[in-house]
Amino acid sequence: MIQDIAPHRFDLTYKRDKASGDDYALCMENNRTLLRKNAAGGWEIPRFSDFGKDGEDLADLAYYLFSIDGTGYYYVKMPGYPAPAGYEFCPTSVFRSVEPMYQAFAGITATQLHRWKESRRFCGRCGHETEDSLTERAVVCPACGQVEYPKISPAVIIAITDGDRMILTRYRPSPDHAYRGYALVAGFVEIGETFEDTVRREIMEEVGLRVRNIRYYKSQPWAFSDTEMVGFFAELDGDDTIRVQEDELSEANWFTRDEIPDETVMNSIGSEMKMVFKYGSVEKYYEAVEAKKRKEEQGV
Ligand SMILES: [Zn+2]
Repeated sequence: MIQDIAPHRFDLTYKRDKASGDDYALCMENNRTLLRKNAAGGWEIPRFSDFGKDGEDLADLAYYLFSIDGTGYYYVKMPGYPAPAGYEFCPTSVFRSVEPMYQAFAGITATQLHRWKESRRFCGRCGHETEDSLTERAVVCPACGQVEYPKISPAVIIAITDGDRMILTRYRPSPDHAYRGYALVAGFVEIGETFEDTVRREIMEEVGLRVRNIRYYKSQPWAFSDTEMVGFFAELDGDDTIRVQEDELSEANWFTRDEIPDETVMNSIGSEMKMVFKYGSVEKYYEAVEAKKRKEEQGV
């Protein structure tokens, strides 16, 4: 999954050190990040030293985000800054193709912190301009003392199973749901709910079924939507007749293990859960992919 960057080490310990030339500069405006075209034609996150003399001015404006393998990643707010030659302000979707993958994870995570800081420029309680906390990753209001932490919205994602079958859904096309492949039932946790309550409510709302034996699987930070995805497996309890929530889903059906399409990219928890159900484990999925590849190479 996207956050699995080992052997690289992601370190969130908050620091207020000034950026040095080797640190990475995530210069952003309006959810776009200034990236540099590399020799291979792909995009990469620039270091402060890549900006020459300007790099020192940028470092003065930079806000520390996190480190990977000891190198800092800093946010620089860039209103109206013209992109230098060879650079471009890119949408977050570009990070999906940034290599190596830990840089993609760093960039996507930085965009979440950018959105948070942009949406907390003023205090929600008294309207005064906020300031960066001196002690933690937070903004504080100097007038009333309100503290605001990065926005993280918990959501559940559920593999609903019944023996050899699992439910896959498709979202109705909308700006909220760009993904057109098969998905699992998922939804945000609401106030007063346990994760298990959310699992039962979302399943009832989206496909009209009851479940039992709700088991936690794994979690995944999903910065694209400021979400923490919490994955569960749950078994059908009783009637298997699906009633689709039509304003959200275009379809929902039972698929046997053989009918579940193979994933090509395993960056999300939903993809992983589908393949874990189909093959028994992530390792067995990769073995099957390798075996298929060998067969194709020999066969043609
Ligand atoms: Zn305030």
